[in-house]
Amino acid sequence: MTGTMAVADVVSLDAGDPLAPFRDRFHLREGLIYLDGNSLGALPRATGDRLAEVIGDEWGEGLITSWLGASWSTAPRRIGDKIARLVGAHPGEIVATDSTSVNIFKALTAALSLRRERPVILSEATNFPTDVYMMQGIEAFSGGRVKAVTVAPDAIVDALSDEVAVLLLTQVHYKSGRVRDMAAITRAAHEAGALIVWDLSHSAGAIPVDLNGANADFAIGCGYKFLNGGPGAPAYLFAAARHHGATPILSGWFGHARPFDFEEDYDPAAGIARFQCGTPPVLGLAALEVGVDLMLEADMAEVRRKSLALGDLLIARMQPLCDAYGFALASPRDHALRGSQVAYAHRQGYQIAQALRELDVIADFRAPDILRFGLTPLYLRYSDIVETVERLERVCATRAWDKPQYHQRAAVT
Ligand SMILES: *Cc1c(COP(=O)(O)O)cnc(C)c1O
Repeated sequence: MTGTMAVADVVSLDAGDPLAPFRDRFHLREGLIYLDGNSLGALPRATGDRLAEVIGDEWGEGLITSWLGASWSTAPRRIGDKIARLVGAHPGEIVATDSTSVNIFKALTAALSLRRERPVILSEATNFPTDVYMMQGIEAFSGGRVKAVTVAPDAIVDALSDEVAVLLLTQVHYKSGRVRDMAAITRAAHEAGALIVWDLSHSAGAIPVDLNGANADFAIGCGYKFLNGGPGAPAYLFAAARHHGATPILSGWFGHARPFDFEEDYDPAAGIARFQCGTPPVLGLAALEVGVDLMLEADMAEVRRKSLALGDLLIARMQPLCDAYGFALASPRDHALRGSQVAYAHRQGYQIAQALRELDVIADFRAPDILRFGLTPLYLRYSDIVETVERLERVCATRAWDKPQYHQRAAVT
């Protein structure tokens, strides 16, 4: 694919796109180009009706009987089993629960309890901040037992010593979109005697993932990005079946073997259920399930194929702007190494992202200088990519980004 691809070719790519019918399953305002589905996925049309049903019938009419009558109590495991199909896990190995940050805490502490003689939680310094912050919190609480260590992205495998209890890595980097080799790094961690926790926040629903094929120990990920579960959707936690004996540190009553016996002492449930903590957020789970069900209808190989084609088209189209306006590709050009996003470094990245919003293109900015385009094959068209670059070119040519109001950074980017 080249930067000079005729518009007619793009139209025929859209016409021949087997995923094209999915676009209508989402609520997307006419004219808007949404390239931020890797931060907050779009709203599936079915979500509103489903929530109305849960609120009106299950909560309004059923009240407390809906914990059993509407299967609220088993929703975390039922949805976990569905997510399992997207990431190469078995039924009973994933539970949809809590936030990603909280699940990072649960997975890391479970892994530490399985490697009691080793002090180090290892990660890369450029990992998503919450991952590293959670490591630091565990270190601070541990009274000297645990050390949080971060190293440069390329130094991970060399840093695997016999001190390392657990390695925490994000499979697709949130800024660059670089994909880690899950099988090879998991093998290296195991050879060093360490366990591994994979963060799948930018993987699930974006690229094919095979947790058990890679022999992964634990994993966590977001429900509101590529899974389209809605703002603040519950996250999920994977624990390989061989680790279901680990005793949870967040030992809440919903992870108890018999929560409604109200016993005095904690006795963890068998299986993945022990990694639940408190009462499940039923409304959030209902919205998440709609997003996951929709994702399961799509062929993941097709999703990956289109995602790479969208990325290749964007990179080709952006080449003239790189030369003229100083954008530097910050994602791998080799698409086998790229997740479902393309990032560019630019000194005015923040202002440019703001100016693009005025032209109805939502991309996002990640400090200090990254302009990030999330590629969501279920609702993006090839023509959206071409149109995005045209609008970006307009922003650059007219210096529309150079307005006083864009120099003030907002609290949420
Ligand atoms: C988005 C993201 C998170 C978010 O964590 P929350 O607890 O849901 O806020 C964590 N890790 C990575 C790698 C992410 O991309």
